[in-house]
Amino acid sequence: MLVSVVVPCYCEELSLPLFYKEMAAVADKIHGTGFEFIFIDDGSHDKTLEGIKTIAEKDRRVRYISFSRNFGKEAAVYAGLESSKGDFTAVIDADLQDPPGLLAEMIDILSQGEFDCVATRRVSRSGEPPIRSLFARCFYRIINRLSKTEIVDGARDFRIMTRKMVNAVLQMKEVNRFSKGLFSWVGFKTHWLSFENIQRVAGETKWSFWKLLIYSIEGIVGFSTAPLAVASVAGVLFCVISLVAIIALAIRQIIWPYSQYGWTSTICVVFLVSGIQLFCIGILGQYLAKTYMEIKKRPIYIVKESSDEKKEENT
Ligand code: UDP
Ligand code: MG
Repeated sequence: MLVSVVVPCYCEELSLPLFYKEMAAVADKIHGTGFEFIFIDDGSHDKTLEGIKTIAEKDRRVRYISFSRNFGKEAAVYAGLESSKGDFTAVIDADLQDPPGLLAEMIDILSQGEFDCVATRRVSRSGEPPIRSLFARCFYRIINRLSKTEIVDGARDFRIMTRKMVNAVLQMKEVNRFSKGLFSWVGFKTHWLSFENIQRVAGETKWSFWKLLIYSIEGIVGFSTAPLAVASVAGVLFCVISLVAIIALAIRQIIWPYSQYGWTSTICVVFLVSGIQLFCIGILGQYLAKTYMEIKKRPIYIVKESSDEKKEENT
């Protein structure tokens, strides 16, 4: 049996050697299972690729793909899944925030054949800025209200899947990849393991608050069309309100003819309604933008070099 381990790496020169050491130690302890490690260098501008090459020279199980620029973690994971050959394929971060030690148990559960996927979630967010945790919680609440696809709070991308599930994920070739949603959307039976939040070993997170916010909008737009209904709901609501207002004004005109007041309230209503209109156009714009990007059918990533072509050159 072969297990592929996909590791997206973006500027991980510091954590990479530590990760490899721990990962290799874990793999050596799991008997009767072959491993291949696929490192994806996501256009790093530090010495990550050199680090991966050094490891690949020593360890024949290691393969790598290097992108022509930074395409984002989602693209890196896609490339890794695409090139994986294992019966089971795992995805794991390079910063040791996903404990490789869990892999033994995950492989064990998957081997029993009941589940197609073993995924992990962190049960705490210790060490994270409180404001970020707050926004994260709100995001999960909103997206799960809006979308039929269940997005588990605290779910990590650290998971192991059977070949069937990997192939299903690979069938989704969209450019805007919100993988927490994609993994859930394909279905299959998933077993969840929990662990406490772990700080990254070295280097810094690549996710700023702003990037996370944009990513969360991507998730909502990618997995729900409910926001598009906001315009219709607001429209109906305002029709009803204005109908009531017209009737009230007509009655007032009959009882107290030629009474005149209400400039301020008129302006307030104009501002409110035009604000809602702009907001709805904004939502439309989001969907239009995503459709525009998808329709171009650009590749999800572009490879600059990989260990496979190196092997071909040598033979
Ligand atoms: N990563 C990547 N491309 C990117 C950003 C991140 O391949 O554009 C990788 C990164 O090297 C790490 C994983 O994705 O292995 C998770 O990134 P990070 O630790 O920065 O995210 P966090 O754990 O803070 O959510
Ligand atoms: Mg991390």
